[in-house]
Amino acid sequence: MKQISQSQILDYQVCPWRYYLKNVRNLSWPEPITPRYQELARASRLGKSFHQFVHRYIQGMTFAELAKQDYEPEMLNWIQNFRKSNPLPAEARLTSEIELAATFENVLWIGFVDAIALLPDQALIFDWKTSKKPGAPAELQKSPQTRLYRFLLYHARQDFLPDTGQSLKPEAITMVYWYPNWPSAPVRLPYSDQLFRQDQDYFRQIALDLSQEDPSFFPQTPDEDVCRSCRFQTFCRRGIQPQAASADEPDWNPDTAYAQDAFDFMDDEPMDSDGAESVLGPGI
Ligand code: SF4
Repeated sequence: MKQISQSQILDYQVCPWRYYLKNVRNLSWPEPITPRYQELARASRLGKSFHQFVHRYIQGMTFAELAKQDYEPEMLNWIQNFRKSNPLPAEARLTSEIELAATFENVLWIGFVDAIALLPDQALIFDWKTSKKPGAPAELQKSPQTRLYRFLLYHARQDFLPDTGQSLKPEAITMVYWYPNWPSAPVRLPYSDQLFRQDQDYFRQIALDLSQEDPSFFPQTPDEDVCRSCRFQTFCRRGIQPQAASADEPDWNPDTAYAQDAFDFMDDEPMDSDGAESVLGPGI
C-alpha cells in the first residue's frame, strides 16, 4: 500500500519534481556544500537536539539529569524558555515521538508527532518549532502537517482515549506549534467538523495526484529560490549559488517551507526508539 507523509505532500506542493525525484524515482542525492545548506544542516541538528531534550523530559528525566549534557548557547536559551513556559498541561497524560497512521483512499497516511497531551475530553498535538520566528497562523492552518496530524489523531482517538474517544468531536482536538525562541507566542489551531470534512476532500485529491506516474505530471517549480535550499540543485542545475554567497545574504530565510528538505527527519522519522509508541488508527 502506498504511504504518504506530510513532508511528501509539502514537497509536492513546493516542487512537484522534487516529490517525483524523491518518491517515484527514489533518487538519493548528496546535499550541496554551500553556506546556505550548511546553515540549514546546523539548524536541523540543533532542532533535533531540542526534540530529544523534550522527549527525554516527557519520558521522565529530570531537568537536573538533563543538565549533565553540554549544550550549545541556542539550546541553553531554548531549555530555559521551556522550563519557564512549559506548554504541556500539568494534568495531562503525555506521550512523545509517536507515529500516527491510518488508511484512507487506499493509502496509508503517516505522521510522526512530537508530543500528544491527553485530557479526559480533549487532545492537544504539540509540534516544537525551533525557527527564528513564529509561523503565521493562516499559513499553518492550511499546512499539510496541521491538516494531516489532526486528521490522523481524530481517527485514532479511541486508541488514545478508550473511555471517551468514541464520542470525541473534532472540536476537541487542537494542534499547538510551540516556539522555544518565542515561548509566549504558541500558535493554537483547533479542529472542527467542517475542517475534517474539508480534509477528507483534500487528502482524496492528494491521493489521486500522488498516484500519477507520468513525469510530466510533476513539473519543476518556477521559483528558483526554492532550488537554492534543495539538495537536488546540482542534479537539476538550478539554484546553484556562487561560492562567495553567504548565509547572511539579505533574502536568506531558513524558516521558509523551502527549507523543508533539510528538516525531513523531524516529521517523517521518530527521534529514536526509546519509549516511542506506535498507534495504528482504524481504517477511515
Ligand atoms: S532543484 Fe529546484 S527544480 Fe530541482 S527538485 Fe529541487 S526545487 Fe525542484
